[in-house]
Amino acid sequence: MPHCENFAPIILTGDRPTGPLHLGHYVGTLKNRVAMQRSHRQFVLIADAQGLTDNADNPDRIRRNVIEVCLDYLAVGVDPAYTTICLQSSLSALNELTLFYLNYVTVARLERNPTIKDEIRTRGFGRDIPAGFLCYPVAQAADITAFKATVVPVGDDQVPIIEQTNEIVRRINRQAAREVLPEAKAVVPKIGRLPSIDGEGKMSKSQGNAIYLSASRHEIGTAVRRMYTDPGHLRISDPGKVEGNVVFTYLDAFDPDVDAVADLKASYRHGGLGDIALKQRLEQVLETLITPIRERRAELSRRPDDVIDVLRQGTQTSRIVTQQTLEELREALGLFILA
Ligand code: ATP
Ligand code: MG
Repeated sequence: MPHCENFAPIILTGDRPTGPLHLGHYVGTLKNRVAMQRSHRQFVLIADAQGLTDNADNPDRIRRNVIEVCLDYLAVGVDPAYTTICLQSSLSALNELTLFYLNYVTVARLERNPTIKDEIRTRGFGRDIPAGFLCYPVAQAADITAFKATVVPVGDDQVPIIEQTNEIVRRINRQAAREVLPEAKAVVPKIGRLPSIDGEGKMSKSQGNAIYLSASRHEIGTAVRRMYTDPGHLRISDPGKVEGNVVFTYLDAFDPDVDAVADLKASYRHGGLGDIALKQRLEQVLETLITPIRERRAELSRRPDDVIDVLRQGTQTSRIVTQQTLEELREALGLFILA
């Protein structure tokens, strides 16, 4: 059982095992998870059931990536001594909560969710939207509330999902005439959405535009060379645009030397700094960040049984917590309880 104070605020956060984790996860949420794990009671959910909502024809992809995501957690410093890591599809209470919560949300409301709208477009569902996909924010409300989480460190694409969660929480509390469930607050970092390397939309596992935390030196170099800069910046001496220039967005996110980045921006705007030099700096910065993660990951992947043990133990602990909430909810909604 991880170390924690009983009164520590509870965190629930997680990832879909649709692929290994990338730099977007790192800035968007992993960094916060590592920073907050000692001051909070933290649960991290590998959301494999949610991963199936747009991968029903490829469950093998989801199954394979459970361990990959778990390896990424451990490699960046999510520590099982402080954080409970668990597997969504092994926690049946989450499904039962989802079924109750579906009655406290309308289809029209689900269709208005801006993140869902955007994801439906990028996944090319057209009118053939899997019902499970449209409803995943309700399942996510079940995940968050089952742990009674009040803090959710996420990228900014998740903010509308947390709002949806809180609407459900308020409706249930109103129905029960007492506060059965707490509302949750999204904790979004300054760079809440890392763009993809081509500057089109966010970096995402499902869109093949990511730099993974397990990337080799060669893969980092290839991705950085493909990065979108300023198409109007043809000669080194030309003034260039910093806004919307993906290389600068990444330097802002990952380069610890803020003053040096400010100087680079000034000389790029003025003219005299070439894209190649700029990209070489970014490549170095990313290499410095990723190398220790990649090495720890390689070491851990030689002990897959230990990784599975972490997940098994975390899931057992989480089963008790989520089952307890389910029982409280049944009672609060006034269901017939068979003794
Ligand atoms: P998929 O494409 O399968 O949806 P994903 O790359 O969007 O995968 P998720 O598992 O959906 O990753 O997201 C997990 C967490 O990582 C969420 O908190 C999300 O906000 C955050 N996150 C994902 N991509 C980014 C990004 N590009 N920038 C910042 N945060 C991100
Ligand atoms: Mg996503």
